[in-house]
Amino acid sequence: MSRVIIIGCGGVAQVAIHKCCQLDDVFTDLCIASRTVSKCDKIKKDLEGKTKTNITTKQIDANDFNALVELFHSFKPEIVMNLGMPYQNLIIMDACLEFGCHYLDTAAYEPEDVNEPVWRERYEKRVKEKGFTAYFDYSYQWEYKKKFEEKGLIALLGCGFDPGVSQAYVAYAAKHEFDRIDTIDILDCNGGDHGYPFATNFNPEINLREVSSDGAYYEDGKWHKVPAMSIHGKYNFDGVGEKDIYLLHHEEIESIAKNYPEIKRIRFYMTFGESYIKHMTCLENVGMLGTKAIEFEGKKIIPIQFLKALLPDPASLGPRTVGKTNIGCIFKGVKDGKEKTYYIYNVCDHQESYKEVGSQAVSYTTGVPAMCGALMILKGYWTTPGANTVEIYNPDPFIEALDKYGLPKRESYNPVMVD
Ligand code: NDP
Repeated sequence: MSRVIIIGCGGVAQVAIHKCCQLDDVFTDLCIASRTVSKCDKIKKDLEGKTKTNITTKQIDANDFNALVELFHSFKPEIVMNLGMPYQNLIIMDACLEFGCHYLDTAAYEPEDVNEPVWRERYEKRVKEKGFTAYFDYSYQWEYKKKFEEKGLIALLGCGFDPGVSQAYVAYAAKHEFDRIDTIDILDCNGGDHGYPFATNFNPEINLREVSSDGAYYEDGKWHKVPAMSIHGKYNFDGVGEKDIYLLHHEEIESIAKNYPEIKRIRFYMTFGESYIKHMTCLENVGMLGTKAIEFEGKKIIPIQFLKALLPDPASLGPRTVGKTNIGCIFKGVKDGKEKTYYIYNVCDHQESYKEVGSQAVSYTTGVPAMCGALMILKGYWTTPGANTVEIYNPDPFIEALDKYGLPKRESYNPVMVD
């Protein structure tokens, strides 16, 4: 018997809502609260008669702390799943502390306005000291560790696939496969085709900010910054075939490096098609990825937000996306005195995801781990309080839940290495 609030009702949230409703003996009462309440009402209607979960909906602006606290007091959730935007992570964490409930999200905090002076000063300092330029980093949310510990509550940070399952794979490999891990390559392949010349598979603003930033990897205790998309190659993915891979900075590198300081190198690669790169480069060159407001016909417009309004809604790509995703980690290290390699990954089919929950596989591979993360907390498998990323918890029950609820692992003991 658990009471849960989901904030946001986009691609990822819609999958998590479906999956929570499949486990209606655990997720007995669900409140879907988002900016556009008609989306919440629609999914509630779609699920009527298909689940015993008691669903309520609520319009909310997650920037409004008082409205959040009021909602939490009236609904009394055990956990709030923040599946909206990472811009509101801190305010929702504050509201969870104020009310006294657990928290979960799928992406590290970054500010909406990257030119805000106080944030900017701290950002510039971090770029200088650490050497990676992404707008997101975990430092803001790790600062909540003590506050959550003192209240005996969990803030589970980044519990999608990557971040999320990728870190559970690291914890699993460290527990079962290696005495020492030397290198990790996280590979995120989307072999799906939606038929549009250009669209993003999750929130366009977050996706384009991430992909157009400098790349970075971690080696020998240091960050190594490289120009965006400058390190690339090819990899032949199980279930998908050969794809172009590009090195990106990604948030879980930061937490894995912190929690496993002995690992010598951690890199993250994502696949992109030619058409995506061509469009993104062009949009960047003409200033459409800008995050600073410009004046247009007497109105202030943020270019990347205007672009988001033009692009297909990721939640609408489900019916037209075919193909598969393949996301996982390749490890090199030592077991029982011998060198070994190991690859653990999941292959997810866009159309099968659509048939099951009405969404494409990128939303599916994020929404299912979010539900499984909440399940770990609600069922008492994960109890360590604090603001923590996934790799600090026992990976076994989480990976078992993923196997059972739609994202089964595959393993290879003789993988082709990236290089
Ligand atoms: P969408 O843009 O599809 O959905 C975002 C939702 O949040 C929308 O329903 C939106 O409302 C709502 N929202 C935005 N601002 C507010 C606000 N101020 N108050 C209340 N609700 C708000 O995004 P996705 O579902 O694709 O992505 C969700 C999150 O998941 C993102 O943070 C993304 O970075 C993350 N993600 C993580 C992955 C992982 O593997 N870890 C992979 C993919 C995504 P409205 O309907 O009005 O627009």
